[in-house]
Amino acid sequence: MSEIPDDHPRAESLRIRHRIIEGMEHNVVAKAGLIAHGRGEAFDYLLGEETTPPAKKAIKAAAAALLLSEYPVISVNGNSAALTPKEIIELSEVSGAKIEVNIFYRSTERLEAIKKVLEEAGAKEVLGVGETADGEIPEISSVRRVVDRKGILIADTVLVPIEDGDRTQALKKIGKTVIAVDLNPLSRTSQLANITIVDNHVRCMPLLVEEVKKLKQSPKEELEKILKEYDNKKVLGEVLELIQDRLTEIAKKGTNIP
Ligand code: ATP
Ligand code: MG
Repeated sequence: MSEIPDDHPRAESLRIRHRIIEGMEHNVVAKAGLIAHGRGEAFDYLLGEETTPPAKKAIKAAAAALLLSEYPVISVNGNSAALTPKEIIELSEVSGAKIEVNIFYRSTERLEAIKKVLEEAGAKEVLGVGETADGEIPEISSVRRVVDRKGILIADTVLVPIEDGDRTQALKKIGKTVIAVDLNPLSRTSQLANITIVDNHVRCMPLLVEEVKKLKQSPKEELEKILKEYDNKKVLGEVLELIQDRLTEIAKKGTNIP
């Protein structure tokens, strides 16, 4: 990887981009994953590349939902494995969620490559690869219908970072609680999930880990209250208003360069 100078105004964004490119070179990220990343970056620019107050509300609700779940599962694709392998393991450890690889462009080589990245980051169990990955979700027409019978098949809550809308819809249809991480508040995933964290997966994961740690000591009633008071449509509306206000301000000033 070519050196990115620390004082480059977009250094962090470039570093993240390089992680995706390296992921592709190791067969972890699919080519289409590069395009998905670019779409995410565009929305991140509109958000000001920071975790917004509505995203923080969604992170809190997501942490409560994970802790209240009987059988939570983190669904991992190429992009999320390339971006946050360590945080995926940490979240699994603090929340008790299983880790399952589920990818659109499915091949044994890619499944194994993603599993390897997760194991190198410390994962003890990676579902979705191997003999228990013979469950099916008939509502999904692509190869992504194949799920693990010890994982997503029996999960009550599924965390789906950087997800496609069709799969989110199918998971909802079969009664799963879906938590999405998606920078585009207008994507079908964002609109259909039960809890949508509109934030960069890279920023959101450490915050989600911290929030789970914090809420872990809370009584069940308090977690239920957080969920009861959470309204995903309202929170998505707040994200859109935030973008709108930000753009109005920039338009007034004539520039967003400080
Ligand atoms: P949908 O299928 O939900 O309507 P889409 O077809 O526009 O969405 P997909 O490629 O299916 O997009 O899904 C990828 C989603 O992940 C996009 O909405 C993109 O904005 C988002 N995304 C990409 N990179 C990140 C990231 N680092 N963090 C959070 N979200 C991301
Ligand atoms: Mg899609």
